[in-house]
Amino acid sequence: MRRAAHKIALMGAASLSLALSAVPVAAQVTPQDNQTLIASVEQGAPRMAEVAHQIWEYAEVGYQETKSSALLQSELKSAGFKVEAGVAGMPTAFVASFKNGDGPVIAILAEFDALPGLAQEAKAERAPIAGQIAGHACGHHLFGAASVAAAQSLAAWMKANNVAGEIRVYGTPAEEGGSGKVYMVREGLFDDVDATLHWHPNDSNSAAQSVSLANISGKFRFAGASAHASAAPFRGRSALDGVEIMNVSVNYLREHIPDGTRIHYVVTDGGTAPNVVPDKAEVYYYVRHTDPQVVRDVFARMQKAAEGAAMASETKVSFEQTGGVYNMLVNDTLGQVMDQALREVGPPEWTAEDRKSTRLNSSHVVNSYAGFGLKKKKK
Ligand SMILES: [Zn+2]
Repeated sequence: MRRAAHKIALMGAASLSLALSAVPVAAQVTPQDNQTLIASVEQGAPRMAEVAHQIWEYAEVGYQETKSSALLQSELKSAGFKVEAGVAGMPTAFVASFKNGDGPVIAILAEFDALPGLAQEAKAERAPIAGQIAGHACGHHLFGAASVAAAQSLAAWMKANNVAGEIRVYGTPAEEGGSGKVYMVREGLFDDVDATLHWHPNDSNSAAQSVSLANISGKFRFAGASAHASAAPFRGRSALDGVEIMNVSVNYLREHIPDGTRIHYVVTDGGTAPNVVPDKAEVYYYVRHTDPQVVRDVFARMQKAAEGAAMASETKVSFEQTGGVYNMLVNDTLGQVMDQALREVGPPEWTAEDRKSTRLNSSHVVNSYAGFGLKKKKK
């Protein structure tokens, strides 16, 4: 599986570098330039694979990706990038820049966080690692490593060919929940960027123009009164009751909200022992829809359900928003550029060994891309 995954990253990096080279200087990029870039990415592929595997092993969750972020930063520094770390108030966020004279500012996003509860050996079969709390189930180890590799190749090509412009890598933490990019956008770190591209490992090849869902996430915390659940239950007010009543109310809400809305939750604290009335309980919710206004409206109604549940259980409820993102605003021009780059790079070639190790077949292969642009702010 490692080999196959690395081929996915290789393809991602090669396509990204081609697409990126086309953004600033479309007219000047020759087929020879494309070949140079692909060869450069291929040359860097063994190191990229090492970096990806190292991040896979670090398996650090959102906002705690200290080693993963540091590794990507040092790879960029050694390729001549200037790195600003700890941006937008996030210790693991960074912006790395390679400037070769005045020209367009092109950004590549790099994600690197793992998912809690999904520690897995690098095998195609399910093989959890005992004692490890997180794993790279979403492929962000490839995402970060390949974005960095693409930027390195592109920087070398820009330098060798006197291509003016700036290439930046944005190290965006906590993309499995935590919305790291949002804080970087809010801080104005993208204000002078002309175009931004990213990619994501997937099980099919495309320059994705599909929309994602807008999302608000947050935790509802109920506080009640603890008591012995057998000796004096009448003295208690169960915070867990608050959570359960809220969940029932929200589940009734599902019939009366716009089609296509997604609501999901997990109970992140439900008390510790059945013989103690829980004085604290917490439920973690996501709401998603293609229209951000629907997400806001549904979330406001869920907050009413929470208040009603607190009233019914004689507990108190507070709310902490943990994330809020728009649906992806796709950019057709950049999508076409990415599609062209993907076609030129072509699909990975699988060996018999790859096929055996991953149960691949020819219709079940590889990558997904999405390009999106950020409009330059008028000053
Ligand atoms: Zn992901």
